[in-house]
Order: sequence, then C-alpha cells, then structure tokens
Amino acid sequence: MKVFLSVDMEGISGLVRWADVVRDGMDYQLNRTFMTLDANAAIEGAFDAGATEVVVEENHGVEDLCDLRLDEIDPRCRVVRGAGRPTATCMAGLDADCGVILLVGHHARAGSFPGIMAHTISYGAFSAVRIGGRDIGEGELFAIRGGELGVPVGLVTGDQVVIEQMRARVPGIEAVEVKRALARQSGDVIPPARARVAIREGARQAVARARAGELEPHLGEPVPYEIEVELRAPASAGLRANFERLEEFELVDDRIVRTTAPDMDLAFRRIAYLGYGGTEGVVRY
Ligand SMILES: [Zn+2]
Repeated sequence: MKVFLSVDMEGISGLVRWADVVRDGMDYQLNRTFMTLDANAAIEGAFDAGATEVVVEENHGVEDLCDLRLDEIDPRCRVVRGAGRPTATCMAGLDADCGVILLVGHHARAGSFPGIMAHTISYGAFSAVRIGGRDIGEGELFAIRGGELGVPVGLVTGDQVVIEQMRARVPGIEAVEVKRALARQSGDVIPPARARVAIREGARQAVARARAGELEPHLGEPVPYEIEVELRAPASAGLRANFERLEEFELVDDRIVRTTAPDMDLAFRRIAYLGYGGTEGVVRY
C-alpha cells in the first residue's frame, strides 16, 4: 500500500510558538530536526504495518515549503517539496493510488482557542474559512480531497484541539496528542523522544487498519463547495481590482469573500489565492 503523509510544523512535538517555526527563531534549525523525526516516526510505523511506499509532502509555508532535513529523513520515503506545485499546492503527491493519508504536525483551524498556532492556510490574512457554512481547518480539507479520490484519512498528530476537530469530521481517525494547547502559543508538551514512540504506533495502527479495509474515505460534503473566507483586514484595493477580472469571487462585505468550487483541488487554490492576491495584476492561482 502506498501511504501519503502530509507534514506541517505547528503540530510537531515540543513546538508551541511562532518563533519555533520561522527561520529567525532561536531554535528553528533544531526544530526542523524535530519535524523530520516526527515524520520519520510515522514513516517507520507505516512500513512496520506493511506500507510499500511512503510519499511525504512538505506543507509548512516557510522557506518555500522546504523545512525537512533531507539528511535525516528516512531514506525509504520520497519527499514532495518547494513552492508552486501543480494542483492544490499541499496535495501534489496525493492521488487515487494512495491507500491512506497520515497528517503529522497538523494544527487547529482558524479561530480556535486554545489551539497551538491555530489558523487555516494563512494566519496573517484569514480569521475564518468556512465550507458549507461550517468552519474548516487544513486537515479537514485533506479529508475532503481524500474522499474525492477514494482515500481515507487514518492519522492526525498535534494538539488536543486539532484532534477534536478532525474527529468531528472523521470519527474513526487514529490520533496522537503530542501536546495540550493552553493558549495559542503555549502548551503542556510531551518530550519529543516520547511523542515519537506514540506517533510510530499511531501510524502503524492507521496503516494496518487501512490495509484491513477498516477506514472509509470521507464522503458526503455537498458539491459544489460553498466557500466563505473571512479576511482579517478589509479587502485591499489590489484585491478588489483583481476581483474585477475574477468573476468567481464575490466580495459580500469588506471582509467576507465567497466563491464556489466543483472539487477540493480548485477550492484549495481559490482559498489560498485570497492570501496572496492583494497585488494588482496577480490573477493566476
Ligand atoms: Zn505550517
């Protein structure tokens, strides 16, 4: 079975604050190793359970989505990294041949409190993202995309808030709580060495259950997706000018943008565009 593993940084064991996940943070280089070792734990669990291939996709939006230490990553996997990927940029390695999706180092959705570094796609630009009138986070977008391709989500690792949110959408998901969020930038953490033991076991269980046919793809979200993004600041003049050329976006008030999409690939790209589309003339996504 081919396994798809999305790795983000905010939900990595031990990390609790923005300074932990940006390049000028005191421990950023060390934290890249923590990220890589959490991924390795899941890769090892996946192979222990009979995976034949593990595709790791880097999804932390710092340094052009190149944060893993490739000198430390398990050499049995392959890694999708770098910006400007085709399709939904965080899911270029996900296809219908995958048997299960593992989410490592993921975080709670925009608007959550507590919820370590909670956001959806853009912390700076979005205060909420909703689909079908319901608040949504990144892990849930993976669950929906997986459903379109027939691939179940088997595992999430992160704080208790992302776990609770994923369980509400995907009830049977395996979950590894590596830290308890106390606020947006504080937590009660398990030391990474111990967290990795739990991640390996969680991944092993998820892949074993997927191989046994016990996990179902997430289905039932109404299509086309009715998307609403709440901007933190009123839409800029540049974004408004671009919307003149992009009829698929509707500005319903200063901060609320609505759009629809027939599939999650396009939905993701349309949501992400609202985070960088403020420069007049930038109309491609
Ligand atoms: Zn991230």
